[in-house]
Amino acid sequence: MSETPILKPTASALADAASLLQSGDVVAMPTETVYGLAASLWSEAGLMRIFTSKERPQFDPLIVHLSTEMAANPKLMAELVNFETLSPSWKKQVAVLTAAFWPGPLTLVLPKTAKVPDLATSGLATIALRVPAHPVAQALIQAAGAPLAAPSANRFGRISPTTAQAVFEELVGRIPLILDGGPCEVGLESTVLGWDQAGRPQILRPGQISATELAAVLGCEVLEATLHPAEIQAPGMLKNHYAPLKPLFLLPPDWQPGQVLPENPAGLLNPSPQAGYLLLAGEPQALSGQLNGPIFTLSPHGERDLCARHLFAALRSLDASEADYLWAELPPESTGLGHAIANRLRKAAGV
Ligand code: AMP
Ligand code: MG
Repeated sequence: MSETPILKPTASALADAASLLQSGDVVAMPTETVYGLAASLWSEAGLMRIFTSKERPQFDPLIVHLSTEMAANPKLMAELVNFETLSPSWKKQVAVLTAAFWPGPLTLVLPKTAKVPDLATSGLATIALRVPAHPVAQALIQAAGAPLAAPSANRFGRISPTTAQAVFEELVGRIPLILDGGPCEVGLESTVLGWDQAGRPQILRPGQISATELAAVLGCEVLEATLHPAEIQAPGMLKNHYAPLKPLFLLPPDWQPGQVLPENPAGLLNPSPQAGYLLLAGEPQALSGQLNGPIFTLSPHGERDLCARHLFAALRSLDASEADYLWAELPPESTGLGHAIANRLRKAAGV
């Protein structure tokens, strides 16, 4: 394990990965959102390994990944979800959402059965379910023959990995195998949707699939959870998650290159610390005359899908750069993908 191979998803690599999962071990797998660290839902040893290799606290529940075939299998679904406790209208909403968005970056939080291990759900009465669209994830789940619990394949609290190399940097020597499915297309974790006490759908973590899109399909309002810290249901809601090692600050909303910024906002002891910049749009070369540190732009013209795809890799690169602290530009939107990117950046900044 000291080596942790990165393997292309050939038939033999998939067979090796499936047998690791079946014997209670973990495997890093690509999905369209971010790379996941997978274990069989039916293996307590495997679930334990997720927590130990990530240094993840056990209060953080895992998302359970299903193949398309599994999600279409009523018998298996009934082993996971306690459908008897769902009202007819709630059941209908679940059917409508899964038809519209699975496979894809939507996680549904539903009442669980007694068969689902508490370790996967941190003792919550609910299970988080998703069907990833990535063909390698689909193939691995089918080969393993079991639902796979899979949080992001990074150490707890750190930047989520969107390439096999980023998983390697996070977990080398801790896990036996990384399947390389190329860079993740979405780049942000899935939208997590739950239902509140009154049975209204609410977003617990923003992602690519927006409240507006969900509402359009459901024909009812979809709330964005704004919870008090005491009510945090999920560490996706914690401040200070997805964080680089270097101090990260958010640029003022109307900031333009050339405009003066505080010189040492982190109060670093180093007398003239260097700033690094994460900007939404533009050519870094065109900006470098005006900014004196490393600059990463996420897209040519601020396209939000590209910004999301490149966000975590750019944060990693800035963390590895000569910058001592970082400034990041926040998308101003309060909905959609810009809102999801802003959510991750606020957490990276711990504000
Ligand atoms: P990760 O897979 O590391 O991106 O994180 C999984 C996230 O999914 C958790 O931190 C929560 O935000 C969410 N989640 C998983 N299970 C549940 C659940 N039962 N209730 C609410 N949120 C959940
Ligand atoms: Mg995570």
